[in-house]
Amino acid sequence: MSLIAEEPELPYQRPPLSKKYLAGEMAPDRLLFRHQSFYDEHRVELHLGVKAVRLDATAHQVTLSDGRQLTYDGLLLCLGATARRLTCPGAELAGVHYLRGLADVEPIRTGFKPKARIVIVGGGYIGLETAATSIHMGCEATVLEMADRVMNRVVAPVTSDYFAREHRAHGVEILCDTRVVRLEGEGRVERVVCADGSSRAADVVLAGVGAIAATALASDAGLACDNGIVVDEFCRTSDPSIFAAGDCTNHPSLRYARRVRLESVDNAFEQGKTAALNLLGRQVVHDRVPWFWSDQFDNKLLIVGLAEGHDRQVLRGTPESRSFSVCYLKGRELLAVEAINHSKDYMAARKLIAERAPLNPDKLADPLIALKEAV
Ligand SMILES: Cc1cc2nc3c(=O)[nH]c(=O)nc-3n(C[C@H](O)[C@H](O)[C@H](O)COP(=O)(O)OP(=O)(O)OC[C@H]3O[C@@H](n4cnc5c(N)ncnc54)[C@H](O)[C@@H]3O)c2cc1C
Repeated sequence: MSLIAEEPELPYQRPPLSKKYLAGEMAPDRLLFRHQSFYDEHRVELHLGVKAVRLDATAHQVTLSDGRQLTYDGLLLCLGATARRLTCPGAELAGVHYLRGLADVEPIRTGFKPKARIVIVGGGYIGLETAATSIHMGCEATVLEMADRVMNRVVAPVTSDYFAREHRAHGVEILCDTRVVRLEGEGRVERVVCADGSSRAADVVLAGVGAIAATALASDAGLACDNGIVVDEFCRTSDPSIFAAGDCTNHPSLRYARRVRLESVDNAFEQGKTAALNLLGRQVVHDRVPWFWSDQFDNKLLIVGLAEGHDRQVLRGTPESRSFSVCYLKGRELLAVEAINHSKDYMAARKLIAERAPLNPDKLADPLIALKEAV
């Protein structure tokens, strides 16, 4: 078994990169999934710091950036995603950062000095988590979001409002409906200019404006790609000896009867496991209700399911209590829940969504009735 990875480090988890690790509160070796001894013991040959630059699906051969060629019987592509880049004038200035990998962290952390003015472009998870961490490190933070509310793609307005309030209460300046048009500075970024002519002084700019599935290796090899490498429920690509898993895939969600591309740890783990079993000749279907978490200050946001297609939202509890959930229903069927500081609702929702249990919306709206009892 060979594992090829462009990054030089042993495989590691990314979520702490915007949270505790960025804050300097987590030792680097705690990021690792496994230590070297695990790979040795399981006879996994690591090719770290080399990129797979060419895939020849006919010859079953992968060419590496150091010129070597590896032949495979089965291949699993877990290529992940790359941070979307800013394209406005000034985007190339020093002091403009993206956060995707371990190597990105040190330069960002160096700039996060007490009182440093951090301007974050994008009010999604990465932007907001980084804003919270920068405040924790004593910086001043401004978040510029193009949409009318933060995390607008993934949560209900009530949840966006709650998180915007939490950030403001900690001193983050959040500006919505604000589009960045230009970055200015003499060699290094000094200012971020917005479409309405306003500007913010910046010592560091962090752009959290989304991620793009890494598909080049697959598409150049002729594999079907469409916002991700297209796979079936067995994680198989359009080539039967090549599988793909994680952020790079466009895969069928059986629960929701549509194709999705997800950026979540759980999906990467579970799809990876399923793909590995299928590579070994089993016939295992990837069938998960997706879930995701985000930590911002002392808040934990847990999202389970996909809300698209809902016809009703039910709020359980109140934002004022700092613990509430938003339930998305289609008829009586629960499609998704976003639970804010409410792991019980999240746990119950995972089960109810998977089972498609018909719910009673009146019971659901009563936070004193446990979610699992709202059937
Ligand atoms: C800062 C940050 C915070 C996050 N926080 C959360 C969170 O709180 N909760 C959550 O659920 N998810 C979170 N995520 C998302 C989560 O980390 C990803 O969904 C997960 O890492 C996806 O795993 P993956 O294996 O599909 O891809 P990746 O983790 O991106 O790994 C892909 C790897 O493939 C390598 N690679 C790509 N092309 C090649 C090639 N041609 N040759 C060799 N190697 C190659 C890349 O360098 C990379 O190391 C976060 C992500 C980031 C960046």
